[in-house]
Amino acid sequence: MNIYKALKMYFGYDEFKKGQEKLVNGIIEGRDALGIMPTGGGKSLCYQLPAVILEGVTIVISPLISLMKDQVDSLNEIGIEATYINSTLEYDEFMSRVDDIRRDKYKIVYVAPERLNTGLFENLIKYMKISLVAIDEAHCISQWGHDFRPSYLEIPRFIKTLNTRPIVAAFTATATKEIVEEIKRLIELKNPLEAITGFDRPNLYYQVVKTSNKLNYLLDYLNNNFEDDSGIIYCATRKTVESLVRRLNDKGFSAIPYHGGMGSNIRQKNQDDFIFNKARIIVATNAFGMGIDKPDVRFVIHYNMPKNMEAYYQEAGRAGRDGEKSECLLMYSPSDVVKQKLIIQNNELTEERERLLYKNLQYLIDYCHTNDCLRNCILKYFGEDIKNNKCNNCSNCLDETEMVDITVESQKILSCIYRVNERYGINTIILVLKGSKSKKILELGLNKVSTYGIMENYNNDSIKEIIMHLVSMGYIYITADKFPILKLTQTSKTVLKNQVKVYHKRNLVEQRSTSNKDDW
Ligand code: ADP
Repeated sequence: MNIYKALKMYFGYDEFKKGQEKLVNGIIEGRDALGIMPTGGGKSLCYQLPAVILEGVTIVISPLISLMKDQVDSLNEIGIEATYINSTLEYDEFMSRVDDIRRDKYKIVYVAPERLNTGLFENLIKYMKISLVAIDEAHCISQWGHDFRPSYLEIPRFIKTLNTRPIVAAFTATATKEIVEEIKRLIELKNPLEAITGFDRPNLYYQVVKTSNKLNYLLDYLNNNFEDDSGIIYCATRKTVESLVRRLNDKGFSAIPYHGGMGSNIRQKNQDDFIFNKARIIVATNAFGMGIDKPDVRFVIHYNMPKNMEAYYQEAGRAGRDGEKSECLLMYSPSDVVKQKLIIQNNELTEERERLLYKNLQYLIDYCHTNDCLRNCILKYFGEDIKNNKCNNCSNCLDETEMVDITVESQKILSCIYRVNERYGINTIILVLKGSKSKKILELGLNKVSTYGIMENYNNDSIKEIIMHLVSMGYIYITADKFPILKLTQTSKTVLKNQVKVYHKRNLVEQRSTSNKDDW
């Protein structure tokens, strides 16, 4: 059957989405493939369609046990024989599926990676003609990515146990250049056909929110936007999920929780209630979402900042899979940064890995402090060429807040970093600029430097905001360490010598001194 006919007949579509045709053709011709497409890009079809056309069986390796059933059900509905094998099956059910698989009943078999190297499975595959192995969420093989699954490392060994090497196709939505290379190397893809369809999601509006009261902002937002439409609110901890759900329910919103501490039945129920619109809002930790195909999520709000840009892009990307206008809000607060740093510190990591995690976190912090286009900031992270300076669909491009000249303040801060020999972190620098009489400052003799007290009339939050803005502009560099130190960069001079001017939003520079660390 030709691919256009199969596309129409099984999937009901007239056209391929970007990248699909190339991948489908490549796979059918017997080439390994690597598909890098954003969430909602249509990756599943790239292996499901070849599965129908190729002789023999396609094995799909997927980490999403909870979704296998849904995927298999939808395939069966459109007339493609499919099944799955994972740890949720009772022994009898498992054996009966194994029998059916042996009898060539299925075209597609979904398998959890943990199953691959079990004796039973190895025995089973001896009897199968496997033409294609498709690896979903392939970035899970990378230890550098945010979803590392050790069982993915077993995939190449599994492929080697097969009598004939099948076509191998890997798919992911998140991949920086390093991760792409790692996927190719670790999965041992042979001269793969690559389709990278770009990371831009034009229908998503990106916004960074810095507010003195997150909860009030959220309530206002929910009351005034997307009445009745669905959305996800991500929180950093199970505790925050629980308390936010209570508060939203108290205010009359239909919100349900989802996190790893809940029993799997109730988790599944809540996920279904959200997907089938029985609840409007799901408040969740990052345990929620991978692979969930709910097309009409209108907003994704991060109540707390995630650990890096990749995680953010992936989670925010669950909005607007149907291509309709949707919003992604990131609520910034310095205390979230502290929490993320503590998580890094509390893990036993190699120095190299620790540095990388700090660097990745810093990129997202910079995203929160930049005045440039947020979309471009995301696209740059993924190494894409930037077409326009402005996207006109993010809070920075549409922001009409008055900008104020902060060149003098910037110069004061940069000179202070210079005067203390680039040896201290942000809090010490602020203490020096404010002229603090704290024991620490006096003991270190920092009250003697010429920049001591030159910003005594500014409050801590304003100085911090200006410093973070200078970091995001590249005028200050924060070392990726447990105790990060502020250093000058090549371009600091241009500010110090008055060759460039620095601007920032008035409201952010003039922070109220009453705001506590948790509030904005
Ligand atoms: P991904 O796994 O890349 O996030 P999916 O495979 O779940 O994306 O596909 C996203 C959505 O796009 C699904 O609702 C799917 O049915 C739809 N889709 C896939 N291919 C096409 C196509 N060629 N034309 C129209 N819709 C498509």
